[in-house]
Amino acid sequence: MVARHDLVEDAEVRAGLLTARRGTAFFARKLGELSYADLDGPSLLPGWTRRHVIAHVGYNARAVARLVEWAATGVETPMYSSPEARNAEIEFGATLPPVALQNLFDHSAIHLSVEWRDLPADRWDVEVRTAQGRLVPVSETVWMRTREVWLHAVDLDNGARFADVPAEVLRPLLGDIWGAWEKRGEAVGLAVRVAGGEDAGLTLGEPARGVTVVEGPLAAVVRWAAGRGAEPGAPVTATNGGRPSGLPAAPRWI
Ligand code: ZN
Repeated sequence: MVARHDLVEDAEVRAGLLTARRGTAFFARKLGELSYADLDGPSLLPGWTRRHVIAHVGYNARAVARLVEWAATGVETPMYSSPEARNAEIEFGATLPPVALQNLFDHSAIHLSVEWRDLPADRWDVEVRTAQGRLVPVSETVWMRTREVWLHAVDLDNGARFADVPAEVLRPLLGDIWGAWEKRGEAVGLAVRVAGGEDAGLTLGEPARGVTVVEGPLAAVVRWAAGRGAEPGAPVTATNGGRPSGLPAAPRWI
């Protein structure tokens, strides 16, 4: 039976779905503001035009939808057949005519939304495997997609800012980035602290002696940490032992 509303009952997942869909709408709005010629322009991601970003976001929705289908049917379907296949798909997608790129984004987003909507309430704990090989409950796909749409809307580089991204996305995003650094031992000698706003004082790492503390508003700190440079009008500063120091380049995240 086809449902007309989300079948999931878990309140946290329902809230997450709302944030994911708001992110999709945000990406769609920024995409809609671009002319066909604008698509050829650079994105914030090195080596990627806006076309690459749009193709990636479209194929990502399809890949995430495959995980939801896996949870629904029990038939294992990976996100991508290989990292090479994923990259080749993006390179191909970037060459599509503008209307086809727009359709790829629209159709894949709607398809994913419907897969989520129709996934029975008792299937949301089913484990699926991410592209990185981690086993996660399928409910995790909501956050995986949320990250993608909000972050890559900024990457389109036509006016979206990290300050436009809700704090309920920025906070866990910072946690993900920090976790990735810690896992690779790249958080050593580094701490990140949020200054100002509702999240003032939120600190990752230990701002001890000899540690470089990177500090700024939540949106600006996350932008720096995500490797997207400086947030317009919101500086991030670094100190070491209480004295100003040069802002380090953020360690690689993904
Ligand atoms: Zn991505």
